[in-house]
Amino acid sequence: MFEAIRREAERYYRHSHHDRWHVERVYRLALRIAGELGAGVDLDVLKAAALLHDVARAMEDEGLVEDHAREGARIAREILARVGFPREKIERVAYCIEVHRFRSGVKPETLEAQILQDADRLDMLGAVGIARAFARGGWSNVPLHDPSRPPKERYDGRSETVVNHLYEKVLKIRDTLNTEPARRIAERRHRFVEEFLERFLREWEALD
Ligand code: FE
Repeated sequence: MFEAIRREAERYYRHSHHDRWHVERVYRLALRIAGELGAGVDLDVLKAAALLHDVARAMEDEGLVEDHAREGARIAREILARVGFPREKIERVAYCIEVHRFRSGVKPETLEAQILQDADRLDMLGAVGIARAFARGGWSNVPLHDPSRPPKERYDGRSETVVNHLYEKVLKIRDTLNTEPARRIAERRHRFVEEFLERFLREWEALD
């Protein structure tokens, strides 16, 4: 069943910052968080939500849909019905996908949705998060850094440089996480991003 869902989802990925490997990492992080939390998580719902959460992401990046979370939930319902996923659980998967996005600022009401949101956010942190931020910047031809454009106080969904993106969005993630295991995993990843920025800016000024 989950192999079928995974294969269906793979048809939708087109960009290296949101590819099948992002989805696999989120899937593993979600299962790890669920394991550390112990009982009370519906793993069917969580696994399906992780595998399907970004099916509409590429469409949003390409300007084809406005909100990949809502559109992703719609596509997920179709796929889940097609592969014979338990009917009574489909809406709970769709809910996880609908509220997972960073920009929504929504605090999810179900445990599975909280875990998916945390797992997705953890993949923006650490070495992998930095790699994804620059991959995305390259895709949309955003400069690495521009000292004449300081980071904005509030993230408005778009950063002028990748370094600003790390300050405006990535370094804010640690304080938005829902679950204790995710907060623990975030610590080292957060620190690594800080160390990266420190070193990057020193090299930029020829100091290191
Ligand atoms: Fe994602």
